[in-house]
Amino acid sequence: MTLLDGKKLSEELKLEIAEEVKQLTATGRKQPHLAAILVGNDGGSLTYVGHKVKSCEQVGFKSTLLHFDDSITEEFLLDEVKKLNENSDVDGFIVQLPLPKHINPDKVIMSIDPKKDVDGFHPVNVGKVTLGLPAYVSATPLGITKILERYNIETAGKHCVVIGRSNIVGRPMSILMSGQAKTGNATVTICHSKTKNLKEITLQADIIIAALGKPEFLTGEMVKEGAVVIDVGTTRVVDTTTKSGWRLKGDVKFDEVSVKSSAITPVPGGVGPMTVVSLLLNTLKAAKNEVN
Ligand code: NAP
Repeated sequence: MTLLDGKKLSEELKLEIAEEVKQLTATGRKQPHLAAILVGNDGGSLTYVGHKVKSCEQVGFKSTLLHFDDSITEEFLLDEVKKLNENSDVDGFIVQLPLPKHINPDKVIMSIDPKKDVDGFHPVNVGKVTLGLPAYVSATPLGITKILERYNIETAGKHCVVIGRSNIVGRPMSILMSGQAKTGNATVTICHSKTKNLKEITLQADIIIAALGKPEFLTGEMVKEGAVVIDVGTTRVVDTTTKSGWRLKGDVKFDEVSVKSSAITPVPGGVGPMTVVSLLLNTLKAAKNEVN
């Protein structure tokens, strides 16, 4: 069994990005610049944005964090997005989700210039990805394709079962796996909460991508021998033995599934670190004007 070590791979990719940044700046180009808007003080969001800013520093990017109180109006936020759209020093930016209830996230995402939408959430980018055109692929699915690519996992002709159909993970993942790129050409089944006989389907899978947010949902008896298993889930569960009082659990029952699988991502240290590095890859693309 191969442990698909997203943490190690993300560190390797960061070194490669840092090298590219050096080469870019040596030719007189400016540092790539990622900005992030954070509204409110949600614990998870603060942690995620903190990782993103720290990763920017590690690879030599400039980063700007705009942190606003959760009492700001939607109009105020849309104006801040407009300013970032127009700021030629900023190559790409993200608006950390979730937003406070009184702000419509769809309206905010739609207001981002697709050329700076390094999270890949704007419908223009989603549409381009669907058509196989150059675009920003959203970070988690991009990170998963990098894991499969770097660990030389063959996807062509394989049966890939994606559990979960969210706009940020399951749906784009199913599109990428069925697309014609190198990490693609799979036969894809996408499952969701209304899927019947899920176990019968997962037992046929060569590759399973579990993205449903239900801790230890995928058990050993749902997986065939030799399957490749990607665990996207990250749910905080109470654990009084840790300093924080919680720990992260994936969607896969690791001890049961790892003995049957040929390769598997751990949680933590699998898909999570690759999501952050994918945002850096998208920002580098933006700085190099590779998506128009
Ligand atoms: P989401 O928006 O809640 O979507 C969950 C999906 O799972 C939905 O499509 C839902 O079906 C489906 N589902 C729920 N229960 C199911 C069941 N019993 N059987 C089959 N399908 C079921 O979640 P998300 O944003 O995609 O995130 C999924 C997980 O990944 C979460 O744990 C999240 O924290 C984690 N995540 C991790 C990263 C990372 O970087 N590691 C990034 C993003 C998300 P319906 O559509 O029918 O409701």
